[in-house]
Amino acid sequence: MALLLLIQSGCGASPVSGEKAASESSAARPVSDDARFDDTFLSMDTVMTISAFGPQGEEAVAKGRERIEGLNELLSTGSETSEVSKLNANGGGSLSADTNFLAGEALRLYEETEGAFDISIYPLMKLWGFDRLDELTEENAVIPTDEEIRETLRLVDAGSLSFDREKGELSYGIPGMAVDFGGITKGYASDSVIRLMRDMGVSSALLNLGGNVQALGKKPDGSLWKVGIQYPEPGSSKIAGVVSISDCAVITSGDYERMIPGTEYHHIIDPKTGWPVENGLRSVTVVAKDGTLADGLSTSLFVMGMEEALSFWREGTEDFEAVFLTEDQTLYVTEGLAESFTPSEGFEMKIIRKS
Ligand code: ADP
Ligand code: MG
Repeated sequence: MALLLLIQSGCGASPVSGEKAASESSAARPVSDDARFDDTFLSMDTVMTISAFGPQGEEAVAKGRERIEGLNELLSTGSETSEVSKLNANGGGSLSADTNFLAGEALRLYEETEGAFDISIYPLMKLWGFDRLDELTEENAVIPTDEEIRETLRLVDAGSLSFDREKGELSYGIPGMAVDFGGITKGYASDSVIRLMRDMGVSSALLNLGGNVQALGKKPDGSLWKVGIQYPEPGSSKIAGVVSISDCAVITSGDYERMIPGTEYHHIIDPKTGWPVENGLRSVTVVAKDGTLADGLSTSLFVMGMEEALSFWREGTEDFEAVFLTEDQTLYVTEGLAESFTPSEGFEMKIIRKS
């Protein structure tokens, strides 16, 4: 289900690779700068792999995983005891530092994207059944009626959330409102882990949180990380192209990840219509220094559609580059990535200029 595949060509050249080999060497002699440590685990409903290189690598990976699991406990709408679930049950409340930051970012994006990004989307997610996808089958899945969608849309309006960043408080203006940070959670998680690893003295690390990739520094050999953008097909390992990066997040939103069984309906919903987005885009990949921004924008630009997304990029209020994959297999690549993006065979690439 990963949206992106990692191509770590060259990693195999490290003299020590893999957790076991690396920890054995740490017991016997100083750990070399290119010793690699990694961990693969399930969190936030997806498979994650985090890798860090060098003497602090082993501890950094353990702390990184702990941090992600902590954020999952805080932000999971699926767990009744999470902070988000309690906020939703109580129509608001006081926020922990993480949730306070996320609420601020989410509401800033709501303003900037003119409502394309709206964390108050959760009642619609539930109406469509995305809160219980594992129970849905082709037989029991029901598409909501227009009437139900219209009713539920009354609750979707991030503009009715009152947020006090200083006090760290959020309160819901409409009874029944509920928020879901799912559109930025993984990007925030990878940002947090990268920061933590950097503070520990790690200079090279790579995180893949269910296809959302973020890198710290370059590979230990000084070359760039190569991140593959997956072709949007459930279970496919086909790659549409590869982007070479350092110190960046590469985050994709697509129409193929979480779907209502037996339908084409996926989990990114247009807050204006209440329907899963359908606008000719297959996926949007955002490349930015800031993981939270990259994640929020990948969801937002997918909702906006290409034309609106490109004018947003041209306005330049936010610092990012993007790759749009359309239904006709064309990759539209913003000019900042012209040198670092390579399309796979069979895909046409068009560079988008600022002016
Ligand atoms: P993924 O989480 O699969 O990597 P996204 O970052 O695009 O993909 O996030 C999709 C999630 O964002 C949905 O599962 C839902 O929780 C939330 N979401 C869906 N539509 C919107 C929207 N218009 N604005 C904000 N969040 C949304
Ligand atoms: Mg996102």
